[in-house]
Amino acid sequence: MDLEYSPEYQRFRDEVRAFLADEVERIPKRGLSETERPGPAEIAWQRTLIDRGYASRTIPRVYGGHGGEADPLKSAIVSEEFAAAKAPSGFGGSGASMLAPTLLEHGSEEQKRRYIPPALTGEEVWCQGYSEPGSGSDLASLQTAAVEDGDDFVVNGQKIWTSAAHLAHMMFALVRTEPDAPKHEGISYLLIPMDAAGLEVRPLTTMTGEALFNEVFFTDVRVPRSNVVGARGEGWRIGNTTLRHERNMLGSASYTEALMTRLQRLLDSETSDGIPAMGRPVFRDRFVKLQARAWTMKYHAMRLLTCTLRGESPGVAGLVVKLQGCQLNHDIAALAIDAMGELGPLYYGSRYERSHGAWQREHMLSLGLIIGGGTAQIQKNIIAERGLGMPREPKPAAPAGGV
Ligand SMILES: Cc1cc2nc3c(=O)[nH]c(=O)nc-3n(C[C@H](O)[C@H](O)[C@H](O)COP(=O)(O)OP(=O)(O)OC[C@H]3O[C@@H](n4cnc5c(N)ncnc54)[C@H](O)[C@@H]3O)c2cc1C
Repeated sequence: MDLEYSPEYQRFRDEVRAFLADEVERIPKRGLSETERPGPAEIAWQRTLIDRGYASRTIPRVYGGHGGEADPLKSAIVSEEFAAAKAPSGFGGSGASMLAPTLLEHGSEEQKRRYIPPALTGEEVWCQGYSEPGSGSDLASLQTAAVEDGDDFVVNGQKIWTSAAHLAHMMFALVRTEPDAPKHEGISYLLIPMDAAGLEVRPLTTMTGEALFNEVFFTDVRVPRSNVVGARGEGWRIGNTTLRHERNMLGSASYTEALMTRLQRLLDSETSDGIPAMGRPVFRDRFVKLQARAWTMKYHAMRLLTCTLRGESPGVAGLVVKLQGCQLNHDIAALAIDAMGELGPLYYGSRYERSHGAWQREHMLSLGLIIGGGTAQIQKNIIAERGLGMPREPKPAAPAGGV
């Protein structure tokens, strides 16, 4: 097996590295922020990345993308080099990575032209309105209702855990339009302006101490019928396209590799009684075990890349990336915190905290990502049933005489 890149791709890697070195002053200091919308500097950076084909590479020019050929190896190189340089590569957020590919597949021409270009640059921020208080893993049981009235739908109900709703201009949402249809067939995919009358966003504080997600309430919110994506009642199929793109986004071997490099630096520099943490067998043993998992993830990513290059679908093997990646990031951050000893639990502005609390934040956020986008347990069920051919989970029996 030859794991080396060909000279053409090596040249491309050199070009990306040189770009990051030349632009080092312009690289935005913060990544996609959960507290602020992208500003002019971030939007300009994103435009540069699109122009050079480092972001939105295959999205046609007419919709604001780079308009290039798909080249999974180049995409992998960009992702590795940006992660290594800690340079943010995506200010478009869920609009660019989830909504845009969904609209390309299912949207009308008008929807593509109107919504994709500002979603790619981050000028228009999107949020995802799927989960409801009673509908998370069993998403198809969602109850938020959209009833047709003239040229509009009138939406009533509630969404929950909506990341970035407090920043968003628009929401892509799943709503029930056919209450009498079987649950998977009664759902539509609706684009909802967040400034619509009757829509209220209430923040929810996470364990990081920040209000990163929200509850969203709809009271007689009017949304034009033309904002339905695809056919009415087809939302389940379309919503699953978005979920596929979300899972591809969560978990990345390059990100984890970069995290391991930072962990190694920390273990070499953090000392107690004059001995670096890496010199202590307990920490070194944990580090080596994590290294083995990170390398396994890297080779798994290469296997998926090979599938893509051969035009084959990796099937459920793709789900392993999110499942393993988020758990591994969480475990890497746990070792970093332990290695800091009594400084480990410090957070939020303590003058003794290391790396501005980045490890503590990684530890808490990665725990959230093990749940978000479909929990680890649900991913394991899918991999077991659809990938390994194991028997389906028994469904709980309906209560006697009940629904
Ligand atoms: C950081 C974060 C960001 C999020 N952002 C968004 C967002 O932007 N938009 C949005 O719509 N949602 C968002 N979510 C919500 C997320 O999609 C849901 O939390 C997730 O789907 C789980 O649903 P639930 O919380 O209702 O848990 P439940 O579905 O009630 O599950 C509770 C527990 O039971 C387990 N469980 C459930 N069913 C099964 C089963 N069949 N077999 C085995 N175990 C099972 C689950 O794994 C879990 O451990 C976010 C969540 C997090 C944590």
